[in-house]
Amino acid sequence: MSVRVRFAPSPTGFLHVGAARTALYNYLFARAEGGVFILRSDDTDTARSSQEYQDDILEHLRWLGLEWDEGYGLGGPGTFRQSDRYERYAQVAAELVESGAAYYSFVTPDQLDQFKQDARTAGTSPAYDGSLEPEPAEAGRRQSEGESAVVRFRVPRPGETVFTDVVRGDMRFEHAQVDDFVILRSDGRPTYHLASTVDDVDYGITHVIRGEDLLSSTPKHILLTEAMGGVPATYAHLSLLMGPDGKKLSKRHGDTAMAAYREAGYLPEAVNNYLALLGWSASEDDDDVVSMADMIARFDLGALSRNPAVFDTKKLDWMNGVYIRNLDDEAFVAMTLPDLERSLGRSLSAEEVERFRDLVPLVKERTKVLPEVSEQVLFLFRPLDGYDEASWEKVMETPEAAVALDGAIEALTDLDPWTTEAIDGALRDMLESEGLSARKGLQPLRVAVSGSTVSPPLFESLEVLGRDETIARLRAARAELA
Ligand code: GLU
Repeated sequence: MSVRVRFAPSPTGFLHVGAARTALYNYLFARAEGGVFILRSDDTDTARSSQEYQDDILEHLRWLGLEWDEGYGLGGPGTFRQSDRYERYAQVAAELVESGAAYYSFVTPDQLDQFKQDARTAGTSPAYDGSLEPEPAEAGRRQSEGESAVVRFRVPRPGETVFTDVVRGDMRFEHAQVDDFVILRSDGRPTYHLASTVDDVDYGITHVIRGEDLLSSTPKHILLTEAMGGVPATYAHLSLLMGPDGKKLSKRHGDTAMAAYREAGYLPEAVNNYLALLGWSASEDDDDVVSMADMIARFDLGALSRNPAVFDTKKLDWMNGVYIRNLDDEAFVAMTLPDLERSLGRSLSAEEVERFRDLVPLVKERTKVLPEVSEQVLFLFRPLDGYDEASWEKVMETPEAAVALDGAIEALTDLDPWTTEAIDGALRDMLESEGLSARKGLQPLRVAVSGSTVSPPLFESLEVLGRDETIARLRAARAELA
């Protein structure tokens, strides 16, 4: 049987990094098995769902490259949107009532509370077993007369549901501890359990890969599937993501929406690689950098860890830096030029783009996220608008600063040719004749031309900046020293 998996987010929030990992594992499994990856919209919570969230989920799945083969937003038969399928859910609920697997329930919330309290006092299970309901004939009559009722699933007791979770191993749930759960609300809307199970059966889902928070729902879904005459899927429940403090990942730990990572300049390939490692050793040889193709080739659902994984942006930053260094220069320019031009407020001329391209190999080495690029090179393409205060204090308010600036102006004014190599030679000679260390002698030059102590390598930067502009900036800084 060919593999069919689904990612089924509720559009009640932006795509979360934990949900993205769930989507990724579904995607990798489908691709590894030559199966079908389906996107479903679990939008039955109408109060909390919104189109904005739905759009965000689609946009970021596409940004990550996790293209789905069937499902929401692709056209074709079926919308894969639960709010379009209320009739189908109601029909299944009616069939289950008909077969005796479910029943109309009239118990009130107060009665249920009392039931649970009494059970606790008596030391019996508080799981509701339908014992407060009228006889089936009377229930049918009251329902057909229009009395408000929900539909509950009749959990067979005594009994147990046993299944083997691919990640967590053998699972056993005593039915005595499981409520006769609601599948259809009194207004005709399905609960999550009904909608999710009917869809999994109707769409022929073979493997349900989802978060561990849904583990306790699984016996209910298996019981429902069997009552519908379906074959239960294989289940794999993924460990949850934690923050570095070992607590469930939340906004307290920083951004959890995928959009924030995209905006901050992370590459989708790096994000996928990083997410894949949260609970899976993608490679045998300790190499954490693994391409999507290799991940697909190696993916093994059974090898996922059942331990919670820590989402650590430091590791993600590192990973992103690796992917940035691996970009070829053309791709790097294409990705960073728009941001640079936005920061400048104008387009670069062809000649300036060439200058930028000359610096790319150096800038790549120092970049963890893409927006850092324009920060590093802006000074080359616009006049300096002052100096970073801390940098100025640290290196300009020293006895060596004036000596270094004067020496550099003299050494560079007639330098020909104006190449990195020649600049390097001239400035090193100057350091030697003035008796300055590289640190004390070059940092003032860096601040003078770039405005701060942090910039790409100095000699290359000066070559790109050009002689006239370099000398002008050195003089301007020297004048500030007075
Ligand atoms: N819609 C559920 C959620 O967003 C997931 C349902 C499922 O995977 O069964 O948490």
